[in-house]
Amino acid sequence: MRKQTPVSSYAVALALGANLGDRAATLAWAVGRLRELLTDVGVSPWRDTEPVDAPAQPRFLNGALVGRTSLSPQRLLEALQQIELDAGRERPFPNAPRTLDLDLVLYGDVVVDEPGLRVPHPRFRARRFVLEPLADIAPDWVDPETGRTVEELLRELDQT
Ligand code: AMP
Repeated sequence: MRKQTPVSSYAVALALGANLGDRAATLAWAVGRLRELLTDVGVSPWRDTEPVDAPAQPRFLNGALVGRTSLSPQRLLEALQQIELDAGRERPFPNAPRTLDLDLVLYGDVVVDEPGLRVPHPRFRARRFVLEPLADIAPDWVDPETGRTVEELLRELDQT
């Protein structure tokens, strides 16, 4: 019998956002690209949200997506950045309006803290526009840094 090397895959959670152009079309296109990259994909409903940390910008359409990958967190982030570029994303200044924003929010129970990549995403616990859609599709996922589930993090945000 031929021996097979087990291929490990990790559950990942991504945050998606768009606030320029046809936001719904861009997000639908991004989901198509992400389906080529990930297996077992689940997508939340989209939410129309107020821009955070960037007043006087168009409103965002946000959502969350979960799936599985055998890519490392670093390779996955590179792939996400390529999809952002393919969507026509430019980075003229920090927090500029964007055709597409893809963030790596959770990667299994792995913690990464290196230049250019932090997982869990350092700001996801404070962002309702990430926690609400993530709670739609992955309420029981445990944040490895706080030990809280996504649902608990959202409830805590509601109380502040
Ligand atoms: P933004 O312009 O908001 O998309 O931020 C992208 C920058 O954040 C890039 O330089 C990434 O290297 C960095 N970054 C660090 N951690 C993450 C993460 N978990 N997901 C996405 N970008 C990240």
